[in-house]
Amino acid sequence: MNRPEKLIEGDIRLDGRRPDELRPIKIKVGALNRADGSCYLELGGNKVMAAVYGPREVHPRHMAKSTSAVVRYRYSMASFSVEERKRPGPDRRSIEVSKVSREALEPVIFEEYFPRSAIDIFVEVLQADAGTRTAGINAASIALADAGIPMKSLVSSCAVGKVDDTLVLDLNKDEDNYGQADMPVAMTPDGNITLLQMDGHLTRDEFREALEMAKGACTTIYELQRAALVEKYSSQMEGGDVIE
Ligand code: UDP
Repeated sequence: MNRPEKLIEGDIRLDGRRPDELRPIKIKVGALNRADGSCYLELGGNKVMAAVYGPREVHPRHMAKSTSAVVRYRYSMASFSVEERKRPGPDRRSIEVSKVSREALEPVIFEEYFPRSAIDIFVEVLQADAGTRTAGINAASIALADAGIPMKSLVSSCAVGKVDDTLVLDLNKDEDNYGQADMPVAMTPDGNITLLQMDGHLTRDEFREALEMAKGACTTIYELQRAALVEKYSSQMEGGDVIE
């Protein structure tokens, strides 16, 4: 698709959102039976599945750490997830996304509780529409909680960007392709930033404002993550599975 003449008209973006509006989010906790914890999440046109295994034995053995767990994160895009078929297997981008996503989650995991073990996080992108790393981090954070991994808090993630000189939340594909800046952020509910990337340019004032927008969005996402976990576990408790 060619660049649309305008990405934002008045106060309305091409997909009908206002600048500070997120795309609709759907969350299903525990979507996979064989993982220790899992989460299926939709963020607008993004569809991702996160699966967590562990704490479990580390293979290969030499990767084990004697004083803490090793956390591994594998972000992977299905070849059918994007417009132009993606070659299966890791590439530079997926290795980078895996690294920054792991670093976004590690600060909240009590790794020291599980020396010599592995906590493995897999994120599979089934459909991509810009924002897959943020969708993946949101899903992985829930899957970790679903697996019962001790955590200081959840992590919530959202991108802010600039299109047609306007700051906008949660960029879609056209805004990502043709915008002036894209800044994915992840943070804990008390505002500790665990991921901050920037593609493009923002002035100092724009950066400050963008960060405030990201904070507001992460708070909204945190409430949805929390509600999805409460819904799953409170219905289990009502069924008598958990309470003695
Ligand atoms: N994308 C694509 N093919 C690729 C990689 C990415 O079509 O091989 C698209 C996909 O929709 C993705 C978007 O480009 O969501 C933006 O990619 P980016 O690297 O900015 O990461 P994301 O925003 O998904 O975290």
